[in-house]
Amino acid sequence: MPANPPLCYQCKKRVADTYRPTDGRFLCSKCFSTWVVDTVRRTIKKGKLFKRDDRIVVGLSGGKDSVVLLDILYQLERDFPSELIAVCIDEGIAGYRDDGLPIARRNAKRLGIEFRLFSFKELFGYTLDEIVARSRELRQTLPSTRQTKLIQHAPCSYCGVFRRKALNYAARVVEGDKVATGHNLNDVSQTILLNLLRGDVARLLQNTLTPTEKAHDLFVPRVKPLQMVAERSVVLYAFYNQLTYHMTECPYAVEAMRLDVRDFLTTIEEKYPGTLGAIRNSIHSLTSQRSTADKTPLPFSKITLCKICSEPSKTVICKGCQMLEALFQKNSLKSDPSP
Ligand code: SF4
Ligand SMILES: [Zn+2]
Ligand SMILES: [Zn+2]
Repeated sequence: MPANPPLCYQCKKRVADTYRPTDGRFLCSKCFSTWVVDTVRRTIKKGKLFKRDDRIVVGLSGGKDSVVLLDILYQLERDFPSELIAVCIDEGIAGYRDDGLPIARRNAKRLGIEFRLFSFKELFGYTLDEIVARSRELRQTLPSTRQTKLIQHAPCSYCGVFRRKALNYAARVVEGDKVATGHNLNDVSQTILLNLLRGDVARLLQNTLTPTEKAHDLFVPRVKPLQMVAERSVVLYAFYNQLTYHMTECPYAVEAMRLDVRDFLTTIEEKYPGTLGAIRNSIHSLTSQRSTADKTPLPFSKITLCKICSEPSKTVICKGCQMLEALFQKNSLKSDPSP
């Protein structure tokens, strides 16, 4: 901000507090918050993320993104007959998730939104800490000839597989129509670049930005209403609206390749503003063109039911059950919520 802040470009009444990243205009905190909410509104409308009467499951961790998402959806969905329900997945990460849980719960309570908690321990029999510890133990004790990829994953890979499964299961239990997650523009761009760097074409071309036809009845479609809002704007929105959120970083985050990609993209975005949006938009236009023009099935398109847990899966035995089998010679999703 300049030494003598100018008046807000929008209301022309209050002193500007920050600038709008898309055009560099100076805005007061109030007009900035309105712009963030409008951006989310446009994203929902343009991408047809929700139907008027959807029961929307908001994945609420207590971190800034999900807290901001809940706050904005609360404002936007008041105009519709839709319903919001907050679902928190406790992965079982000591000193991290247990601190975030009460914050998540308080945020839902503040808005009068129903809050439901599901945990890895309850659903799969193990906390993420136990899964990671077992993987490290097997890597040290098993001869290398008996080590498979399934026991060699980084913590975030285990976490991602089980969290996706848990959130989908939880959404069915609470009879949700859509799952809304707090992924912001930075997250979305990071994922695109990560898939590219890993050569994962199937994931790269999978349209995760707008709801597509349900691949299976037991899959609850996931949407990302904050996909056009950069992380900086999420933080400023939380600050200007005095939202309380959990700030600690997950202890396993340092082991993730995503962290390097995040740092790289932050540097690039600072040097060349608009890069994050360009990455997101290019893959969005590619996937939407593909969904309307090219109907060739992608390798992941065939969904079946896992032989062990009966959850929808691309393979005969789902990744989660394969992981548990390799680590503990067990597998589970403990109960069956199928209607
Ligand atoms: S940083 Fe990794 S392990 Fe931690 S919550 Fe996120 S995905 Fe899970
Ligand atoms: Zn203003
Ligand atoms: Zn399974």
